Amino acid sequence: MIDLTLYDPFERMQFSDTNCFLCGTIITQEHRAPVFAEWLQYKYSLQNKELLLLDKSVTTFSQLTIPCCDRCHTHYLLPLEAEVEQAAAKGVEGLQALPPQRLFQWIGKMYYGSLVTELIKEANPLVMPEYAVSEDPKMLGKFRSFYQVLQSLRVPMVFSDFLPCSLFILEVDPTEDELPFEYQDELTTMSFSIKMGSAAIVCTLLDNGIIRRALGKLYQVTEGHSLHPIQLAEFKARVFYAAYIFSVVPEYFIRPVKPEDDHLVLDTLIDDVTNEIFNPWEMTAYAHMLEEMLKPWSIREAEILQNPKQPLSFLLDEENNFKPMERYLKQV
Ligand SMILES: [Zn+2]
Repeated sequence: MIDLTLYDPFERMQFSDTNCFLCGTIITQEHRAPVFAEWLQYKYSLQNKELLLLDKSVTTFSQLTIPCCDRCHTHYLLPLEAEVEQAAAKGVEGLQALPPQRLFQWIGKMYYGSLVTELIKEANPLVMPEYAVSEDPKMLGKFRSFYQVLQSLRVPMVFSDFLPCSLFILEVDPTEDELPFEYQDELTTMSFSIKMGSAAIVCTLLDNGIIRRALGKLYQVTEGHSLHPIQLAEFKARVFYAAYIFSVVPEYFIRPVKPEDDHLVLDTLIDDVTNEIFNPWEMTAYAHMLEEMLKPWSIREAEILQNPKQPLSFLLDEENNFKPMERYLKQV
């Protein structure tokens, strides 16, 4: 019989270097798994690249590891990484062919890796973070829901009629693309993006695909096009901003388990009667987000909001059609 018991570290806030992040088993401090898989580190020479953590401390891609037992490492993480590695080698097409649930688990593991690193630090009585995510009950509730669906990495699970995230897979034009690898995550809004060669994935976790539907038209417009890196930056700004104003937390329910069951079935509910799904869109807040993403091109907010009704866009023309772009020419 398959053990379908879920682990919940949030119940007793069990965040330590001696509990496997995925099953909770007691382990020694040597048992760890990289947040960014070794194949990814080798392929893009990330080992010694620096990473800034939430508490502003600096680590490197190879140093960022999470507590993980051998069983979870061998049975669940390595096969997933092998699958994604193979798919990623085929670029956008390969990633699109992967079951979306696998991509969710893959991104979810990296996101949770950053999160759990933060939670373990905050559990240290000597650390007094400026903003402790573990002390925000709403955030904790969100993380806990997310962890429940992330358990699908270990416990066979079927999501009845939803995917616990929004996924966007985009092709990047190599002409002016100087960064073979790029990665970004925002712990509180649960947004994530990763670019591997010419394939970029932008993802918002725990929104049950609502942001993907909300931005469906924009996504459709980009279909079949290779994006200039500045266009990808704008796409990311739109998705990350949508995650920022997304204001509901889905609830997940496990259907009663019968002894012969070999997997769990999860249903979901979003309370959109007493809650608005999105907070109102505020142009200046969006412009901030876009300015942040456009940093490499030094485009400032004033330029973005030159026409306050129609913010600067590299993706869409006035009729909301795709604006082809091979090279970026700085407007003077
Ligand atoms: Zn484990």
